[in-house]
Amino acid sequence: MDKVIVLIGAPGAGKGTQARLLQERRGIPQISTGDMFREMKTLETPLAREVQEIMVSGKLISDDVTYQVVRERTSREDCENGYVLDGYPRTAIQAAQLEELAKEQAKDIQAIEVHVPREELMRRLTGRRSCPVCGEIYNIHSKPPKIDGVCDLHSEAELIHRADDFEEKVAVRLATYDELTKPLIDYYETLGRISKVEGSGDLETIYSEIERLVMK
Ligand code: AMP
Repeated sequence: MDKVIVLIGAPGAGKGTQARLLQERRGIPQISTGDMFREMKTLETPLAREVQEIMVSGKLISDDVTYQVVRERTSREDCENGYVLDGYPRTAIQAAQLEELAKEQAKDIQAIEVHVPREELMRRLTGRRSCPVCGEIYNIHSKPPKIDGVCDLHSEAELIHRADDFEEKVAVRLATYDELTKPLIDYYETLGRISKVEGSGDLETIYSEIERLVMK
């Protein structure tokens, strides 16, 4: 598998969960720009502080900064045989930058749209919690941890409710998605490089469908 898998979908569509499963079960590295930016939180640099402020607002980090991060990460050895991008590209410029990068890396791009109805997204996002240690994602409505507020695998870790998963920030993120990222679906459609998967319903069914597309 020598390709770049692009998972496209609104915030809360389950891209992260599915990308993590592909990594666990198929060994395909999950490259999440959101996770990488969140990791910068601990750095005390002006750029890290700026990234932090933008993320909390629900808006997007600049295309060039994002590209540098993606470029550096995907140049590492584990990405040699392909990788899954979760949350990238998110703008037309990022999509163009990714074309160049994939060409340099001699990889084809395959996009998969994970579609979830709007009403469900808000519920999913505001109910989302994650483990600060392993990144496991829970949902207080649909996938609660065994003990309230604590990771099943790390009993010492209190689950995090992301600052941008509160209702008014979610509204900004969904609007940003509609305006800047959703048009990429048409872009990849024109290129004949996108398949659509229904992202509501049983997690394993959704995963099987995505895995089938990835491995074909
Ligand atoms: P996510 O975890 O994918 O929802 O990303 C969380 C936040 O990180 C977004 O709301 C943006 O502020 C930032 N971010 C993640 N990916 C990108 C990207 N491809 N371009 C710009 N900003 C991004």
